[in-house]
Amino acid sequence: MIDAGPVIVWFRRDLRLADNPALATAAASGRPVIPIYILDETPGLRRPGGASRWWLDKSLRALAASLEALGSRLILRRGPAAAVLEEMIAQTGASAVFWNRLYDGGAVERDMALKKVLAAETRSFNAALLNEPWEVKTGTGKDYSVFTPYWRAARGRLDKVDVLPARRRLTSPEQWPDSDGLSDWKLHPTNPDWSEGFSVWTPGEAGARRRLDTFLSQSIKGYGEGRDRPDIDQTSRLSPHLHFGEIGPRQVWVATQTLAATGEAALRDTEKFLSELGWREFNHHVLFHHPQIATENLKGGFGRIPWRKDIKAFRAWTEGRTGYPLVDAGMRELWATGFMHNRVRMVAASFLVKHLLIDWREGERWFWDTLVDADLANNAANWQWVAGCGADASPWFRVFNPQTQAEKFDPDGAYVRRWVPEFGTSAYPAPIVDHAMARKRALAALGNL
Ligand code: FAD
Repeated sequence: MIDAGPVIVWFRRDLRLADNPALATAAASGRPVIPIYILDETPGLRRPGGASRWWLDKSLRALAASLEALGSRLILRRGPAAAVLEEMIAQTGASAVFWNRLYDGGAVERDMALKKVLAAETRSFNAALLNEPWEVKTGTGKDYSVFTPYWRAARGRLDKVDVLPARRRLTSPEQWPDSDGLSDWKLHPTNPDWSEGFSVWTPGEAGARRRLDTFLSQSIKGYGEGRDRPDIDQTSRLSPHLHFGEIGPRQVWVATQTLAATGEAALRDTEKFLSELGWREFNHHVLFHHPQIATENLKGGFGRIPWRKDIKAFRAWTEGRTGYPLVDAGMRELWATGFMHNRVRMVAASFLVKHLLIDWREGERWFWDTLVDADLANNAANWQWVAGCGADASPWFRVFNPQTQAEKFDPDGAYVRRWVPEFGTSAYPAPIVDHAMARKRALAALGNL
């Protein structure tokens, strides 16, 4: 007998219609499709921070509108995923649940448990990565801990990357189950609503596609050099869209390779850009094999660092009042827009860890709450990279000098002037720590390990 019960498509961080294998497979079955998003309260999952909740609110609205244009709907439910899905299966008579995979420890455990308990067929797919974390292995069958050989192996598997088209129509169930109202989830901040500066973003699949197209038509030329300059608009700003799966890495890959094939963009620029996607892949590979990276140093020994507890200095860092203009500009950009340029993230993070000798996990948590692209794999791995305890990390004795970094990467001071307009006046604070002293202190603390 052919099973004709509805298929539940459980959206998680794949908030798009195109290149979405769970949705495409459900639609191709010809059975009714019930799209659902669950505000998941399963224990062991890291809850999204404030900026991510803002983004999620907008992205879900965009996804719901796109589904409605296909004659479908997005059902919203809140609670532990197992209980919500069991209830949905009972209410709708669904005989299958499809989803796209996630790779952090809490999600992997949850999904494995669901496969055992749900009274329906379950199928999972890859929408988030170019390679699955377990597919890229060393010659001896181990996972990688160094980026360059990882990327050589991973890239070698990407000769033929395919993208699935978006569906034009979805079959509806005879009766739609109830849905929560999105506004009741209160994802958008109120009292105070601090999100005014976030209007620079357009969450959702259409916004993601426009970002990619604009980047490839306007900014990829010179990306290899210019990507380190916070004062010019040279990077894609795709990171929040990729995090929420409004666009997938296969789509970015194919669009970039198509452009490269026309010869309109230089290979040094397209390859550099693709290798940044490679870092995203590598960090997911590391996270999958080391699920504890958000809380534990990957390299032993770092547990003995005499981290300082300094609430006043930490607060000055979060508020962009350290007296180091590049650090302060970055921290204010972050607070205002939910984003910070990659070069400045490195300098600001290094300042917290090395100049202030404050545990990288405190910085990681602040970024988690304030970044619109906050991502467990990328945030934790990059903080560990800066601190020196991560996979393939920056050497511990490398202490960025915020002043020379500013001279090199913001040579006209335009970025600093934009975010720290009082710089150079008596209103700007003096440095909260002396660079030479802080450098010596960091080297002594880290060198003693
Ligand atoms: P582009 O230069 O256009 O790069 C394209 C894509 O490649 C990005 O969208 C991103 O998905 C990926 N990418 C680029 N650089 C990196 C990198 N260093 N590591 C992993 N992937 C990368 N990125 C996040 O997505 N989420 C985070 O929570 C996050 N936290 C970070 C914390 C620190 C301390 C540091 C130093 C970096 C962090 N990054 C994080 C990485 C990087 O800063 C951002 O991905 C990048 O700035 C996003 O801008 P973009 O999309 O314009 O990048």
